[in-house]
Amino acid sequence: MKSSMQDVLVIGSGPVGSYTAKQLAKKGLKVTVLEKRPQLGGPVCCAGIISLNCARLLNVESLPVMNWYKNASLFSPSGYKLDMSRNETQAVTVNRGLLDKLMAEEAAQHGVDYKYNCKVNEVNIDNEGVKVRLQNSANSLKGKMAIVAAGCNPTLSQNLALGRVSDFAVGVQAVVETSNHENLEVYFGNKIAPGFFAWYQPLDANTSLAGLLTRKRTLHYFKEFLKILSKRNTLRLASKPLFRCVSLNVLPRSYDERLLILGDSAGQVKPLTGGGLYYGLRAARIAVDTTSKAVNNNDFSAASLADYQNRWHKEMLGSIRLSRFARSLFERYNDTKIDRAFLSIERAGLVNTLSDDPGLGFDDHGKVVSKVLKMPSFYRVLLQLLVP
Ligand SMILES: Cc1cc2nc3c(=O)[nH]c(=O)nc-3n(C[C@H](O)[C@H](O)[C@H](O)COP(=O)(O)OP(=O)(O)OC[C@H]3O[C@@H](n4cnc5c(N)ncnc54)[C@H](O)[C@@H]3O)c2cc1C
Repeated sequence: MKSSMQDVLVIGSGPVGSYTAKQLAKKGLKVTVLEKRPQLGGPVCCAGIISLNCARLLNVESLPVMNWYKNASLFSPSGYKLDMSRNETQAVTVNRGLLDKLMAEEAAQHGVDYKYNCKVNEVNIDNEGVKVRLQNSANSLKGKMAIVAAGCNPTLSQNLALGRVSDFAVGVQAVVETSNHENLEVYFGNKIAPGFFAWYQPLDANTSLAGLLTRKRTLHYFKEFLKILSKRNTLRLASKPLFRCVSLNVLPRSYDERLLILGDSAGQVKPLTGGGLYYGLRAARIAVDTTSKAVNNNDFSAASLADYQNRWHKEMLGSIRLSRFARSLFERYNDTKIDRAFLSIERAGLVNTLSDDPGLGFDDHGKVVSKVLKMPSFYRVLLQLLVP
């Protein structure tokens, strides 16, 4: 591999990396994406559930949508059910493997150079530029700037001395064949997914995705979840379970001289659900702006790139912090409390109040938490939970 100077080296060809690469190339910058996978298009451990807003942000010519959702059913540990529904489609499921491939193809059409089988081990920065070292290769690649969009990747971000994302969960997911349910289903309980939730997500008449997030013993809980699902329907595992980590907190610093960190690598993730596409893409829009200004002004100083972090913090850090607070409360609930919360929420009509509010969308976790904290019915629920 020849070593030549690029404007920007993007590390990682997930949706956030490819989005950024394409937008920079459209602004006339020379961009290379380095990806450790040998090729794109294979299965990715991600439910791929995104809002319509997020779908628009992706800006892909033909989005690989597998299903549309207006409704979702939430199940408590003992089987109490809360139905959430709206008249309009709230979210879609995209085929994540295919999405990564399509986004890379579109970026390549705009001139982005993709290099596969290129695992970045080290990023070195000096006055001349950025030098990226690859695993199993004596060569390095050079750029004026590097953008790390390498997913939940504690090793890489720690090597960059920008601090570390201090909170993670592990996700697992597989395709299952089953007689179908219509709704997206979400299951809570400490025997299913302690501190988090499991999902069952119909894709077509016979197949669904089943998955969950936990902090530990992920495979054990996944097997238990499949047993619960198979009590209601015949169910056959149709793919190998895939595992992946999810960042639940932000990286203390997401920029340095000649360097920006984006997406899951920076912890731009909704802490309540582990969903990272919406925040990652919003931050990517800011990163594109900051990067193109840096290249045009030939100013790659940390002071000028700090603008990126200031802007994305302003847009989403408040919401991330509120959601982390809600997560810390939820993680303390045992199964009895979750059951009681379901009953109290139903009695207080909390779900209907939130569902009927047109101002609250699928992505507005911070807004939902702050709205809930202002609702008298929430305090009635809290009181009922506190009374033995
Ligand atoms: C089980 C599960 C379910 C999820 N469901 C949803 C959901 O429904 N909705 C949602 O919005 N989010 C969901 N997420 C989160 C979502 O998948 C991530 O937020 C999203 O993929 C982040 O995109 P990214 O581009 O930042 O990183 P990634 O998609 O992780 O992409 C990073 C890329 O970098 C490459 N890479 C990593 N290290 C290196 C290296 N050293 N050198 C070169 N390349 C490297 C990887 O191979 C990968 O291609 C889920 C996550 C999990 C685990």
